[in-house]
Amino acid sequence: MYPDPNSSSQKTYDRALASLPGGNTRTTVFMKPYPIYAARGEGCRVWDVDGNEFIDCINNFTSQIHGHAHPALIEAATRQLALGSAFGMPTESEVDLAELLRARLPSVDQVRFCNSGTEAVMMALKAARAHTGRPKIAKCEGAYHGSYDYAEVSLDPTPEAWGRNAPVSVAYARGTPDNVLADVLTIPFNDTEAAVSLIREHGPELACVLVDPMPNRAGLAPADQAYLEALRKVTREVGALLVFDEVITFRLGYRGAQGLFNIEPDLTTLAKIIGGGFPVGAVCGRKEFMAVFDPRFGKPALPHGGTFSANPVTMRAGIAAMQLLDEAAFARLDAMGEAVRSGIDAAFGRHNVPGRTVGLGSLLKIHFADRPVRDYRSAYPTELEAKRQAVFNRALLNRGVLAAGNGLMALSTPMTDADIHAIIDAVSGAISEVSAAT
Ligand code: PMP
Repeated sequence: MYPDPNSSSQKTYDRALASLPGGNTRTTVFMKPYPIYAARGEGCRVWDVDGNEFIDCINNFTSQIHGHAHPALIEAATRQLALGSAFGMPTESEVDLAELLRARLPSVDQVRFCNSGTEAVMMALKAARAHTGRPKIAKCEGAYHGSYDYAEVSLDPTPEAWGRNAPVSVAYARGTPDNVLADVLTIPFNDTEAAVSLIREHGPELACVLVDPMPNRAGLAPADQAYLEALRKVTREVGALLVFDEVITFRLGYRGAQGLFNIEPDLTTLAKIIGGGFPVGAVCGRKEFMAVFDPRFGKPALPHGGTFSANPVTMRAGIAAMQLLDEAAFARLDAMGEAVRSGIDAAFGRHNVPGRTVGLGSLLKIHFADRPVRDYRSAYPTELEAKRQAVFNRALLNRGVLAAGNGLMALSTPMTDADIHAIIDAVSGAISEVSAAT
């Protein structure tokens, strides 16, 4: 049972405290009183350093769409490892993965690889600035896009900072320069009228509008079709680029969220699943916008390097991961997601606990909220909801299922029907504990 002061995880964490700040490398994986250390994973299961077994519904915050140690990915990566892992030269593998992505995304002519989603978003924003010659970017309140200064503005404003009408741009990290805040327009997610009017007002200065079609930190509610269509229209009207952050949502379908919504952004950022379990990022889009990276005519408008960008191990594993994701694989992921969402919603009703799931495809989020969740503010938990979430998290963990601390769950292709039932049963049991405790 967690927590156990005599566990190997506790001992490893005690060691970590000396050499890592707070014993931690990723704020997202921190947990009190100590994080559980993974020893190994196989398929949809993970074993910790104490030998406990879990069904993994975190999947490294959605990157492991094929779970762990998939034989095809091991094969692709190890074959490349034996040939060399990184060169000060391009390799054919980057052309292969770029061609694959291009074939799936009608909005994409060209691809630029990097090493993380953070870097992909950073390069997309810089590309939009370089292309338009304009300084400002717009992004949605509460949406996470990695840790580039501009992209993390207004990530977690508290109700006191919400402002009376339009969202205000507030710093996430201490020390964020005022200039950064001044160059970021924060727009509300899923409020079409307000977003369009803010974009029109700041139009001449806007390089781009950055939007995640189903922003996890802002609640994981899918965008309204009309909202995305309005962003597509108004960005054209004011001459700003529309950037879709599909770092997570590319796992929603064969053509990502842009395929589901049938909208073509100017630039798209990708990461996570396209690296087959290795560090990766990519910015991609129409040739005319991607031209800022083109070095053929002297110094590009946007020079960009990266020691490990497009390294062939990532590229080969990524190609193998994407090849496994055919239309049938997505149909199965969709069906499993639907089953888990409806199973959990039914459990809320059975246990008489206010709550609901949101999400699409293989992704879902559990909210202990008695209201529709559409955006950051409606997803913002009350004190009681936060308490219920904490009870739930601990109960679910002790029932052998891993989910993210904020209720995010991501399914994977190796899951069987029996695993899906086990997940629903564990969630249902955890909800019954919430009912008993609060
Ligand atoms: N954009 C979105 C939508 C994300 O969810 C994330 C990471 N969770 C990022 C960007 C940053 O990606 P990375 O962690 O690879 O830097």
